[in-house]
Amino acid sequence: PDVSDLVAAHLRDVPDFPKPGVVFKDITPLLGDGPAFGEVIRALAARYADGSRRHTTAGEGRTADGSGRHTTAGEGRTAAGSGRHTGSPVPQRIDAVAGIEARGFIIGGALAHELGVGFVPVRKVGKLPGATVQRTYDLEYGTATIEIHTDAVTPGQRVLLVDDVLATGGTAIAAWDLLEGAGAEVVAFETVVELAFLGGRAALGERSVRALHVVE
Ligand code: IMP
Repeated sequence: PDVSDLVAAHLRDVPDFPKPGVVFKDITPLLGDGPAFGEVIRALAARYADGSRRHTTAGEGRTADGSGRHTTAGEGRTAAGSGRHTGSPVPQRIDAVAGIEARGFIIGGALAHELGVGFVPVRKVGKLPGATVQRTYDLEYGTATIEIHTDAVTPGQRVLLVDDVLATGGTAIAAWDLLEGAGAEVVAFETVVELAFLGGRAALGERSVRALHVVE
């Protein structure tokens, strides 16, 4: 079964949340289904391998069925990893997974474990205990600020950024730029659901974006 269909079958539309007129895509049915959650994490992991492993060969890090299949939306026009988006992908080496609070922690934590790499939390302002760097971005009404620890990444570290949903892209751009500003090389942004009608992929520009399921 196609992982995009699997995600779609475990998504719930919640009308008028968090405010009137918005239809919220709720992933809690997906998280609550062990086999479906596992399949989604394996699908996300399929294109990546632990960069610290010395003898990584093509094919490691793939799902059991070896397909590594994602939606084709946007493939072929990513800046990073060109040539790796057709046919059977060669895993891209990553050193850590960064997840965006809060649902990105759930997806990202499981994904980091699956890949055997560390996890970097990208948090809403005021939650991290150590010294931080922050980024403020525009929302429809007002602004939001996210931050990472100043020592969250090491220069040149290859980081995969993940979240549950890509909407306008403001959150993902802020997180990407924070990580890059701290010296990381952000390999890609992976999301479970992309709300294409909100234009996030275009907003992310040349940054590599992949989604398991696209809502047109
Ligand atoms: P953006 O910054 O507009 O792309 O919004 C993305 C952020 O808001 C992500 O961290 C998502 O978790 C959250 N978000 C926006 N819309 C939804 C939704 O419909 N369902 C779940 N999360 C959403």
